[in-house]
Amino acid sequence: MNQWEVVIGIETHAQLATISKIFSGASTAFGAAPNTQACAVDLALPGVLPVLNKKAVECAIRFGLAIGAEVAEKSVFARKNYFYPDLPKGYQISQFELPVVVGGEIALQVGHGEKAYEKVVRLTRAHLEEDAGKSLHEDFRGKSGIDLNRAGTPLLEIVSEPDMRSSDEAVAYAKSLHALVRWIGICDGNMQEGSFRCDANVSVRPSGQAELGTRREIKNLNSFRFLKEAIDYEVQWQINEIEEGRRIHQATVLFDPDSGETRMMRSKEDAHDYRYFPDPDLLPLVISGDWIVRVKSELPELPGQMRERFINDLGLSAYDARTLTASRELADYFESTVAIAGIANAKPCANWVMVDLAARLNKEGRDLGDSPVSAAQLAGLVQRIADSTISNNIAKKVFEALWNGDGATADEIIDQQGLKQITDSGAIESLVDEVLAANPASVAEFRAGKEKAFNALVGQVMKAAKGKANPQQVNDLLRQKLAG
Ligand code: ADP
Ligand code: MG
Repeated sequence: MNQWEVVIGIETHAQLATISKIFSGASTAFGAAPNTQACAVDLALPGVLPVLNKKAVECAIRFGLAIGAEVAEKSVFARKNYFYPDLPKGYQISQFELPVVVGGEIALQVGHGEKAYEKVVRLTRAHLEEDAGKSLHEDFRGKSGIDLNRAGTPLLEIVSEPDMRSSDEAVAYAKSLHALVRWIGICDGNMQEGSFRCDANVSVRPSGQAELGTRREIKNLNSFRFLKEAIDYEVQWQINEIEEGRRIHQATVLFDPDSGETRMMRSKEDAHDYRYFPDPDLLPLVISGDWIVRVKSELPELPGQMRERFINDLGLSAYDARTLTASRELADYFESTVAIAGIANAKPCANWVMVDLAARLNKEGRDLGDSPVSAAQLAGLVQRIADSTISNNIAKKVFEALWNGDGATADEIIDQQGLKQITDSGAIESLVDEVLAANPASVAEFRAGKEKAFNALVGQVMKAAKGKANPQQVNDLLRQKLAG
């Protein structure tokens, strides 16, 4: 197994968040009745001409700037010719030799916790194109239907270099890209509705060999889980083929989520099969420097920039900064928490957001967007831990109450439930004395050198205090008394 190296390059189709199509004024809204959102241009009626949607171009520029790519001063739309019932023109308008975005890179984190590592994936290009329609095979008494609502929907096809070396890296890349296009507002990222779909090109080669192996392309993976499962299956299949003495033939394959297998769809076509040529109906796309400057000024702070700021200004670890910038919603939530709790509490805020809140949301299958605990409420909780009003343990209780509550603040809950920590040393001392008197056996064990007995005594005091005694004070007082 070890002697094979996996090589993966990914092509992603991101549906651009414009209200109308890329070359017509028809709506792009999802879910309308079939063929109600296809105008003469989308139906390819004779004599109509495409008109480029400026918003779609702006999305491409935003993307190019966000990944540090070159935004081409001049790019060209080309016809990709093929026959399919859902493509009435007989060609798809795409970009071929001169794409709008060239190069760039995405930094990602692969894995979690201790084993996590950083990786940079280079991008080859990104180009604008139109989507095709959809063939419907159900409900037609043995016939098929064509829905052209999706025809002409603007897509940005984002092509990576073959830089990924495992299905985990492929998933990390797809997730980073998915977060980025949503972050900069060019794609809603809805994978169920097909707004973000990946084709994975997979090959294997003997470790140490420079030349790439022959790839097979797995089409239209619309979930991160399918992406991983499809690649894992495909890699095993290819290794098996080669080890049994067969060759891999370049091909396009489909993943069947039910069987977990990939199967051949067609042998791979080459670019020349499509007879690409510049579309005579469209002028070259020229993007001025001024336009780029304007789009740049409208970009939000990017995840990478935000990570740097979290590390440098808030003192967070690279791992925390990475986790908190996984999505803009999460980053905004965290920042709102810190804005109230104060920069000095950035680390505890990070922990509460990444650990406690995340776990609770995950358990209930909820998104941050409908978290019952607001950033302000969580900040209030962090502040009461910071000023020792409550211990970390009691804080978990308060958090539960916030989660199940009706919007009450941490302060209100602490008041109502009498959770304020006991820091009055006189009160703690009398509890300690009681416990020592009631547990002579533990005291004797401790004096005989059993450290465990000490913890048992701490536990007894905390129990007597209903969890509210300041743990540090309990520890200190117990040590004093036992030493005396
Ligand atoms: P197309 O699939 O349209 O023919 P390309 O040849 O440019 O386009 O390649 C598409 C994708 O395949 C890119 O993401 C590229 O990184 C990846 N790729 C190319 N060769 C290999 C290979 N041998 N193994 C894995 N991925 C590859
Ligand atoms: Mg391809």
